[in-house]
Amino acid sequence: MTGPVMAHLGEKKLELGPAENAPREGDWRYATDEDGIAWLVLDVEGSGTNTISGRVLEGLNRHLEALAAAPPKALVIRSAKPAGFAAGADIGEFETLIEEGAVDARLREGHGVLDRLAALPFPTVAVVHGAALGAGFELALACDRRILVEGGSFGFPEVQLGLHPGLGGTVRLTRLIDPLEAMTLMLTGKTAHTRKARRLGIADAVVAERHVRNAVRGAADGKLDGPDRLLKFRALDLAPARRMAARRMRAEAAKKAPVEHYPAPHALIDIWERHGDDSVAMQKAEIESFARLLTTDTATNLRHVFGLRQRLKAAARGEARIGHVHVVGAGAMGADIAAWAAVKGHRVTLEDLDTGPLGTAVARTVKVAKGAHLSDREVRDTLDRLMPDPKGYGAARADLVIEAVPEDVDLKHRIYAGLEERMKPEAILATNTSSLPLADLAEGVRNRARFAGLHFFNPVPKMVLVEVVSHPGAEAATLDRLAAFCGALGKLPARVSDYPGFLVNRMLTPYLLEAAVMVEEGAQPADIDAAAEAFGMPVGPVELSDRVGLDICLAVAHSLTDRLDKPLAEPPARLRDLVEAGHTGQKAGRGFYAWADGKPDKGAAGNGPTPEMTDRLILPMLDAGVECLRREVVADAETLDGAMIFGTGFAPFRGGPMRHADTRGRAEIRARLEDLAAAHGPRFAPDPGWSTP
Ligand code: NAD
Repeated sequence: MTGPVMAHLGEKKLELGPAENAPREGDWRYATDEDGIAWLVLDVEGSGTNTISGRVLEGLNRHLEALAAAPPKALVIRSAKPAGFAAGADIGEFETLIEEGAVDARLREGHGVLDRLAALPFPTVAVVHGAALGAGFELALACDRRILVEGGSFGFPEVQLGLHPGLGGTVRLTRLIDPLEAMTLMLTGKTAHTRKARRLGIADAVVAERHVRNAVRGAADGKLDGPDRLLKFRALDLAPARRMAARRMRAEAAKKAPVEHYPAPHALIDIWERHGDDSVAMQKAEIESFARLLTTDTATNLRHVFGLRQRLKAAARGEARIGHVHVVGAGAMGADIAAWAAVKGHRVTLEDLDTGPLGTAVARTVKVAKGAHLSDREVRDTLDRLMPDPKGYGAARADLVIEAVPEDVDLKHRIYAGLEERMKPEAILATNTSSLPLADLAEGVRNRARFAGLHFFNPVPKMVLVEVVSHPGAEAATLDRLAAFCGALGKLPARVSDYPGFLVNRMLTPYLLEAAVMVEEGAQPADIDAAAEAFGMPVGPVELSDRVGLDICLAVAHSLTDRLDKPLAEPPARLRDLVEAGHTGQKAGRGFYAWADGKPDKGAAGNGPTPEMTDRLILPMLDAGVECLRREVVADAETLDGAMIFGTGFAPFRGGPMRHADTRGRAEIRARLEDLAAAHGPRFAPDPGWSTP
């Protein structure tokens, strides 16, 4: 986010009016300009990002009281932080409020402050640069007008925390714009970027930073005023119309996530259906529902997941000292890694034996850049930063070389030998291998201290997790720089040690293999997927195998079987046959399923999923996690949980595999694994790590 935002702002300062020189009092700076416009600038103490805490709202309230007593011509609210307007509520505060039983009271106070802002008799304007999320968006919504600086955005990510907006957002957004669009934004948690925010009518104007002062004057003079609420939105003021729309929304929400796992979207739909034409009743219902959702297991676990994300982010702090990146191998992975690094502001050279992949990579970069919501100019700048380099000249200038050629130790060794002759002595050499032992690869490297694994997941632009893989010869500083590089790419690094499958594939492989075994036994693939989805996995294992590629799954299974102490399921005949016949999954149009338009045809369900199926899929994954902790593949259960959630989408509302193991009970899981081992074989035998607390 910061990259594009800062690019929009250039080197220019934020226009803070006279508040620029005003002292910070608490979290706010305040001053009135020569036109009589009051500037109230949020600059939360001790943080680079604004979050909306109780303290911020109290400070705001004091200013609003003073302003009501001596009205200015208009009031502008904006942020002093280059990072953006505000990231949302202070989530850390929730825990304290719950413990103190103060949630309800605090919500009412917060609503009181924003209601006071909304009721001021003079024009109020929010100027938003960067993101205004959650409570930050709600603060902007309580103003009469919103001026958006190019590149800025609005969003309600609350669903990702098992919540819906709780500071009046459900009421104000559904009154401001098309209620159906408002509900979609809140139900999906998606962000409305500049153009969309303008089109939906969230932003009343979009301006460049240098025009903010003028735009504010215009808003103060009423030039942005339009009709209060479009007539066409009023159709949904009628209960029967809302009832029909709500029915569709419920069906849509249920498709994505069952209500028992994710109650928030359904609660939100209920509130709007019942009270969509009565702001007072809707506000009351919003407060009650938010307070109720806050203490559900889902919301508690999702706050834990938020903490896991922060933890992985913290591991990405520090100086990467990486400007120029050279990528060798412009295939599926190398091209996307190069594109993403260029999008994020790095100079990139991309080398391949073939010119074909280099051409494809350039086209791909445009797609990746557009997918990252870059403007046309930024897309051009990204392309300028990425240079196809068939002769590999860039290796001599690079601070980091990422190797992404096919999985073949000898080939990789040959490439390392050539690269090391050219690389700067302080440059890092990283491999994207997913299944070769780092120890074997390191044998072909002279400067092992500067060598490590940087394991990206496919598709690179979407997958936020990157495993930073160590080996005994790697220097800590190398791993630190790689983790910081992940941070610069907006990715989350998980530090793992050299182990078959590293962490994520070690845990995921038994899950995928067990599904193939069940297919072999005659279970319907659709039932197997449903068994995993019922647990909360985003994609069932049969579909996931097809998506990853059955050839890749089989290769990883073989590689792990050869190197692990523990037995894995033998890859079943059907899996091997499909690969042999070239039916390697989605990319071939056929695997376990037939594929069309990026979707599998799952055919008829059988007898439906069973709890036994779910246990056979999930428990071996947990068992592999316990093994990885025992063998110190990963430092702690939190990093493991974060890696599995951000690397595989492991049921987030369960808080991660190890947290789920604690919830269900380690002794119970151990006993269940013993039962499964008796019924299906030693691959289910519980790891010794289960007995240690
Ligand atoms: P790929 O086959 O799509 O691409 C490999 C590219 O390397 C090809 O374009 C090929 O022309 C090029 N190449 C081969 N020899 C070369 C040489 N001597 N010099 C320069 N270029 C050369 O492979 P991929 O799927 O992108 O995998 C690359 C690496 O990434 C592998 O180590 C793989 O294990 C790992 N990986 C793959 C995935 C995945 O899902 N595909 C995921 C994570 C990691």
